[in-house]
Amino acid sequence: MLLARFAPRLGLPEISAALRPTSGQDLRRFEAAFAELAGQAEAVAFPYGRTALLLLLKALGIADLEVLCPAYTCVVVAHAIVHSGNEPVFVDSQGHDFNMDLELAERMVTKRTAAMVATSLFGYPVDLDRLASFHRRHPQVVIIQDCAHALGATWRRRPVQQEGIAAFYGLGLSKPLTSVHGGMVTTDDQSLARSLRDLRQQMISPPSAWDTLRQRAFLLAAWAGFNPNLYGLVNWLERRGELDRLASYYDEEAIDLPADALVAMASFQAAVGLAQLRRQEELLARRREVARIYDRQLEGVPGLRLPPLVEGAAYSHYVPRHDRREQIIELGLRRGVQMGRVLEYAIPELSAYRARPGAVNPCPEAAALARTVLNLPLWIEPKQALWVARMLREVVNEIC
Ligand SMILES: *Cc1c(COP(=O)(O)O)cnc(C)c1O
Repeated sequence: MLLARFAPRLGLPEISAALRPTSGQDLRRFEAAFAELAGQAEAVAFPYGRTALLLLLKALGIADLEVLCPAYTCVVVAHAIVHSGNEPVFVDSQGHDFNMDLELAERMVTKRTAAMVATSLFGYPVDLDRLASFHRRHPQVVIIQDCAHALGATWRRRPVQQEGIAAFYGLGLSKPLTSVHGGMVTTDDQSLARSLRDLRQQMISPPSAWDTLRQRAFLLAAWAGFNPNLYGLVNWLERRGELDRLASYYDEEAIDLPADALVAMASFQAAVGLAQLRRQEELLARRREVARIYDRQLEGVPGLRLPPLVEGAAYSHYVPRHDRREQIIELGLRRGVQMGRVLEYAIPELSAYRARPGAVNPCPEAAALARTVLNLPLWIEPKQALWVARMLREVVNEIC
């Protein structure tokens, strides 16, 4: 048995949603429920989060300009900016949480800066007060929120997605809410939503029967593969590099989008997403509960820096930091717990980005995060979390 660092919370509601006959209304229903949950007027679905950002930049008419973007975030965000015909300009992280340093971002605004992607990384809410004051001083810079980790996150009781022109979400299997693959934009701007739907109509093609079959097979494989009894095999294959071709979502050298980046979400995926939305409160409460257990149980472990305690965090991940991460991961595996690295790179250091004009500023905080963050399982039972915490304490004591 091996405890996976991550597993999609797919239960009977999702699997039966995936197997039921679909209707032409699934997508519209998913969008309506998503908009309601986000507390925004409109939600528009896309094949991936990155596609959502790409079309958002196009709908806003932003081209051949600069977009401020965290140095420490998922690399596909930068890919989408490049594919929109703009230049990502990377901003280092701040020390006290994982998010982009907004003061630094402000110093990097130029005449060509058209937008900023503000991310609530790992579910830690962006400081909406700072974001609003940034926007007051630079009204020409459009603020787009990346809420791929942040559905349910609040800043001073205010849902993060509600500041800025629009927010986008990734709904892949590794996200806290999934539609197998998928993306979403939420906004209160009706005319922007209209432009997005028009662009989607022009640029996104409906899935073929083969596309839909592939997505269904992917869902069932993931459901089976994350079963704790089989996960040891998956991990063994992964370590041998056998899954790289299937699972690796980025290539160090290339700035590319997946072949199906412009193929619409299938109806059954919207049904799965809707089933997940209905469990959103329950899933969020579980992650917060397990995070609280880690917060208490891991206090004082030598060299382990715990994530900050932030009111309103949505805990897409629980990420303590340790300088001897690699050894800890190795020893954890031997004891039956897989811990991960989540984001093990700072984007400006990747070879595809190193030489780009937006990557010239040093990003020491992002680089340090990339080297030290550990990803502990949050999807587990509270009892298992106690066990994981005890294991981690023992492992760290063994090496320190
Ligand atoms: C996954 C992710 C995205 C992109 O979502 P996709 O659906 O994979 O394109 C964007 N931002 C962050 C922070 C993510 O983790």
